[in-house]
Amino acid sequence: MARRESAGAGPGSRALIVDLIRSSGPISRVELVKATGLTQPTISTIVRRLIDGGVVRETGDTVATGGKPRTMLIINSRAAYGVGIHVGADALTCVVTDTRGGTVGRALVAGPGADAVLGGAEPGGTKGAVEQLAALHQDVTEGLGLERQSVAGLAVVGPGPVDVVRGGFLAPPGLPQWAGLDLADALAARLDIPVLVDSDAAAATVGEFWSRQVSRNRTFGCLYMNSGIGSGVVLDGALHRGASSNAGKIGHVAVIRDGELCLCGNRGCLEMYAAPRAVVRRARAVQGLADRLRISADDPDAWAFDVLARAALYGDEQARALVDESAALLAEGAVALVNLWDLDTLVLAGPGFVVAGSIYVSEIRRRLSEHAYTRDVHGVRVELSSNPRDAAAIGGAALVLQGSVAPGHGPELIARA
Ligand SMILES: [Zn+2]
Repeated sequence: MARRESAGAGPGSRALIVDLIRSSGPISRVELVKATGLTQPTISTIVRRLIDGGVVRETGDTVATGGKPRTMLIINSRAAYGVGIHVGADALTCVVTDTRGGTVGRALVAGPGADAVLGGAEPGGTKGAVEQLAALHQDVTEGLGLERQSVAGLAVVGPGPVDVVRGGFLAPPGLPQWAGLDLADALAARLDIPVLVDSDAAAATVGEFWSRQVSRNRTFGCLYMNSGIGSGVVLDGALHRGASSNAGKIGHVAVIRDGELCLCGNRGCLEMYAAPRAVVRRARAVQGLADRLRISADDPDAWAFDVLARAALYGDEQARALVDESAALLAEGAVALVNLWDLDTLVLAGPGFVVAGSIYVSEIRRRLSEHAYTRDVHGVRVELSSNPRDAAAIGGAALVLQGSVAPGHGPELIARA
């Protein structure tokens, strides 16, 4: 059941109206009154402030209704730009989006762990991390000719756990030198823009919700697969964050009793069996398969997984069996996620779905239609992200914009002290 926001022109009402214009625009003030239950003067006041602030604009179109023609409102796509940087062990992806979630710029550079991948001795230290992120942000925004004032902020997103209050990662896999680093403070001081740090799965969830113009009436979930497996759920238009913004760790639900020891300290976690790293490890153990696919022991897991996934799509039976097994396990995770939250929409995002996303989508659809607890009440829409590889970076930009134009949903942007 939809939660009713308290009446009045407070921040909750502003966030609600921005979210309705985002998901349902073009929309008229009269429709906003109907959709929110807020009074007409309240809507008028908030909309006027949003127009004055450049967040919302009138389209210029009016809809004749027999009475007074209605002016339509949309989000002003050029109101501000958000920057998201996705941190992977061997690559940093930077994406700039406009306020409606459209990508206006993108860059990919070797990540802080790439030295190790390339055979170098010591990945960059903490100062190196801040400098590398700051330089990437500057290269991309300056390349687009964006004024600093038009950039609403920067989000750095990566594998959890995260400390969103402090603005840092706790133990990013492959990047031990980043653990405990106050990234948001250091970057806000260096770049003089607001900065936030969040998990890749949380970011991807908000990004998909925002850019797909999903209605806040839907119970929306996102399964995110990169080196690990995470998820996010949006309820009433806001990401469910839990006590510390670390909700949704479906990859650390045990699927095998007394199974393999996971980085999290638990045994038998889903991601130890279904994530790309696990699938590649199994492929390397199959006689002759790695040689046939030309996967060497030195190739990064993410790259090797894409090769394997392509072979699976093109009919290599051994590769297909491995990907199918991963999809079957992930489908169990999807059923658990849908059953816990009674989801009606589930999107698959993350680099793990770039090549073989269709295999995962089909298997998850099949399993949900047969096993979801609510299968006789309603169906679950399962879709693949339109840009699975960049979903977390795009989501980072969406988190910044959501925090800027409709505050109150997520971690506060940390500004220069
Ligand atoms: Zn685990």
